[in-house]
Amino acid sequence: MNGDDASSSDKPTPSKRDEYVPISGLTGFEKWRRTMAFLTGIGISEGDRARELANVQINNCEADKHYLMQASPSVVFMLKHLKVAGCELPPSNIVCAPCEGPLSHVSGFVPDDNAILLCAGRFWSRKHLEQSMVHEMMHFYDNCRFKVKWDDLRHHACSEIRANNLSGDCSFLRQLRRAEPGFFKKHQECVRSRAILSVSQNPNCPDVATAERAVNEVWDSCFPDTRPFDEVCWSHTLLTCLRLTPF
Ligand SMILES: [Zn+2]
Repeated sequence: MNGDDASSSDKPTPSKRDEYVPISGLTGFEKWRRTMAFLTGIGISEGDRARELANVQINNCEADKHYLMQASPSVVFMLKHLKVAGCELPPSNIVCAPCEGPLSHVSGFVPDDNAILLCAGRFWSRKHLEQSMVHEMMHFYDNCRFKVKWDDLRHHACSEIRANNLSGDCSFLRQLRRAEPGFFKKHQECVRSRAILSVSQNPNCPDVATAERAVNEVWDSCFPDTRPFDEVCWSHTLLTCLRLTPF
């Protein structure tokens, strides 16, 4: 539910796909023929080539998703806390699919289905995917623990503030040293602007000024709320902050 993601209010919609046997489902000569056709564009329709590309992107997304669910400290941490909270998130509820809509929408949380949608082919790196997963898992956590009403702009704003603060969405600011003057102010500005953008895309939000007002109204209570993290994790790779939380 921010500029990079979408949720109940603004979710990217999976593209419809009809019956099509992907290359990965073929064997022998036909597999070789279709692979060459895909690579060269010869002997394959634009539609089939597009579907094959979508299939490759889904497979790559699924592979990275499973890797992160095993190897990413922040993703594993969130999975554990979701389970403790009684909201276990199985891999089957994290779905890689082609998406329609603006390319800036890369993921979304779908409360009605208790599912996370990852837009295959829209992540520029595994780190980007990791941050998006943690962001959506924060929404999942809030939805489970705090019974969020997503059509209430203040509820939406609070979850966006937390998700953007804790997921690493503003992690480019890690380039700056924590001790640098103005670091925390820049981080807060990043979190605030991304939250406002997401809330402004809520169907119940008439304009950006209303979104800004909703974010401002809940900021003081939601920004310091780092649950289930003990603090903001400035490095999701090392995740040093997690050492403070015993399991
Ligand atoms: Zn969000």
